[in-house]
Amino acid sequence: MTTTRRTFLTAVGCTGLLGLGVAQTSGESETDLARDSFTLMSGTDDATEVYVTTASESGPTALVVGGMHGNEEAGYVAGEDIAQWDINRGTLVTIPKANAEAVAADARTASGEGDLNRKFPVGEEPTTELARSIWGVVEEYEPDVVIDLHESVGIFDGDLVGGVGQVIFTSWDEPASTDAKKAADYLNENYVARDDYEFSIGAFSSSSNEPSGLLAHKAARDTDAVAFLAEVTSKDTELDKRVQWHSKLVQQLVEEELLTTSGGGDDGSDDGDDGEDGNDDEDGGTGDEENQPPVARIQTSPSVGDGSLERGDTVTLDASASEDSDGEIVEYMWDLDGDGSFEADGKSTELTVSDCGSYRVTLQVTDDKGAMSTDEVIISVA
Ligand SMILES: [Zn+2]
Repeated sequence: MTTTRRTFLTAVGCTGLLGLGVAQTSGESETDLARDSFTLMSGTDDATEVYVTTASESGPTALVVGGMHGNEEAGYVAGEDIAQWDINRGTLVTIPKANAEAVAADARTASGEGDLNRKFPVGEEPTTELARSIWGVVEEYEPDVVIDLHESVGIFDGDLVGGVGQVIFTSWDEPASTDAKKAADYLNENYVARDDYEFSIGAFSSSSNEPSGLLAHKAARDTDAVAFLAEVTSKDTELDKRVQWHSKLVQQLVEEELLTTSGGGDDGSDDGDDGEDGNDDEDGGTGDEENQPPVARIQTSPSVGDGSLERGDTVTLDASASEDSDGEIVEYMWDLDGDGSFEADGKSTELTVSDCGSYRVTLQVTDDKGAMSTDEVIISVA
């Protein structure tokens, strides 16, 4: 059994502030991981690291790219963190600083180079050496999921002029749109405090429209990958929050591929294109499929994002967003004090945060075939 996700909720009322992690920092994975890295464009100003984490359990491959635009800090900060994530199966390839020279200059583009994210034309060779070397990573690892992390100074309101923040752009087909919608909904529920900052999903521009040459477009159209371009807004938003948004979006978008365990018996074949919400049967539906594990999902009230929790408050913990794609969840168990044993059961429970420090709450769900998964929320009283 392996913890698949972790979220944070903070209460105030004690002196001092606890640092908040932003993503998977668990050292508890039971899966052996191989970590490797190598340098693209070695010896040049464009030299940049590629990190490859491979779980002992085979599975799909995800590629996460940050720093395509050097002044979009949240993407490469999140990317550096994501590169260190533990995964439970498959392969995670991360290029945190795709445009390292632009990152070093804190500029959208490297001098004289133009916009790196316009150098990946569909159906053609990328047009610069750096773009070709990044595309070489795609060709080598053949990712099932490609996620490119960006930032905008504004918020998308259906009009590109106002900025493109708070959008997950993707091809409009299944399962890409379903996955993007699920991730956006999850973020909005748990990490977005203001309605006008809610994430939406947007369709990639068509090939006949500008802009063209985007890595995510090329990945979606020239390979079998499901591709996403995530844009968070920097408008009135601190870096930590933007990094958290990116990390949580990536976590949601790769959850099915890399963070859930197979529950045993998965042959690890490419299933990066199967639907996540389980109401599809597009893989053939022969009735002979391996059991898919459930997905545990804790929602808190007050929500993680709204910052209204105070010491002494009672937090409602709700598991009803958990799901099982090919059956039903038959058991919900709660560890409310982080001791590894379960004190409560049922779809929801409550916890009163009366003491200073951190509470680690784990939800374990079991499906009708006995497969389990967990979700975790850290509630810190700071
Ligand atoms: Zn960008």
